Amino acid sequence: MKYTPRQFSFAQYLMRRVGFLHQQDIDAYLQHLLLVKGRYHVNPKAKNPFKRWHYSAKACMDALLAEVELKKSPKQIPLRQPSGPYFSATSLARYAFCVSAFSIADAFEQGSAVSNEWIKLGENLHQTLRLSAQHANYGENRDPFYRRAWQNPAIGKIFRSEPIYMGHAELAKLFFNDETGFAGSPDYIFRDREGLFFVVEEKFIQQRDPMNPSALRLDKEELKGILEEKNLERQQQWEKLAFYFFDNHIVQVLAYLYNLVEYPLSYGYLVYWLYDFKDGEPYVHKAGVKKLSLTNETMALYQRYLNEMQTFKERGNINFDVLKVNAKKCAACSLSPYCMHKTKRFHTVHYPYRSADLRVYAAEFPSVLRSELPGNGF
Ligand code: SF4
Repeated sequence: MKYTPRQFSFAQYLMRRVGFLHQQDIDAYLQHLLLVKGRYHVNPKAKNPFKRWHYSAKACMDALLAEVELKKSPKQIPLRQPSGPYFSATSLARYAFCVSAFSIADAFEQGSAVSNEWIKLGENLHQTLRLSAQHANYGENRDPFYRRAWQNPAIGKIFRSEPIYMGHAELAKLFFNDETGFAGSPDYIFRDREGLFFVVEEKFIQQRDPMNPSALRLDKEELKGILEEKNLERQQQWEKLAFYFFDNHIVQVLAYLYNLVEYPLSYGYLVYWLYDFKDGEPYVHKAGVKKLSLTNETMALYQRYLNEMQTFKERGNINFDVLKVNAKKCAACSLSPYCMHKTKRFHTVHYPYRSADLRVYAAEFPSVLRSELPGNGF
């Protein structure tokens, strides 16, 4: 899994154009970008079984090129209307994820070419993989990926509960709480067999599936006949894939539990679907669930993020600790194409995000590529 030498030279150049200063930051970002956007492609005509699958970093190059183009003309990015007095669980979650992401999302309309791939992927995941799509045929679906994903007992409980509300249905109701200034729509509200109402928020997290058939490359050992042993090893790796539930997602569920008044919500589930790609299509291979309720501890977490977010909006700026920039998070961030803060050049985030800060920097074009046309053949 890697860039070709030409791709790597060009990618480093594009990163410097975007504003990255340190080689170790460039290397870390590019490696994580590869994990997010790199894909296996099959060549059915390849006679040599060792060459049947090849890994392509083309999508990474396309994303970097698109980001440079976007930042060359920041005035072209349509601005969003200022958000009103209400806050949503999604915006609070975004604040908890990254203050820069929160500010960008409130500043710019994201519909540019840069975000299209993410939007399309999001729609596909939502339409085909969501709980709502699976709820109807839970009992009958024999797809081994889903059977493995559904081994979690909490998922079974959700499937056996009565759906009351689906936030992604057309004309889904928006819930308001005038007292707290909240407006939002959860993914789902269900009623369990004891008659208790609960809220569910589902998230899709891209994670390599060790059992991914697209990634199972024939190697010499397998040709020698120890495929079964290899598969067992992969199965064990898959079982060990750990879940870590992020604060931003937890806070989102807490926001629904605290602010929704139409239903007496007793608890909430945060569902993680780990997905990978098979023949270019996303599929779920593992599910994790965290049960949440309002306690002193969870309320303190919720209140802390809410207070910080409101103070940031009122003041219009906040310090930004560049030491906390995390290449893994940035490479997977859907707002990364708009973000200047991942370069570690900026120590303050303004609200809303200032398009005047978006720019490209001068960088030396790699001498090894001088004879190449940039963007052609990468
Ligand atoms: S790219 Fe990184 S710093 Fe920028 S908004 Fe996303 S997570 Fe935050």
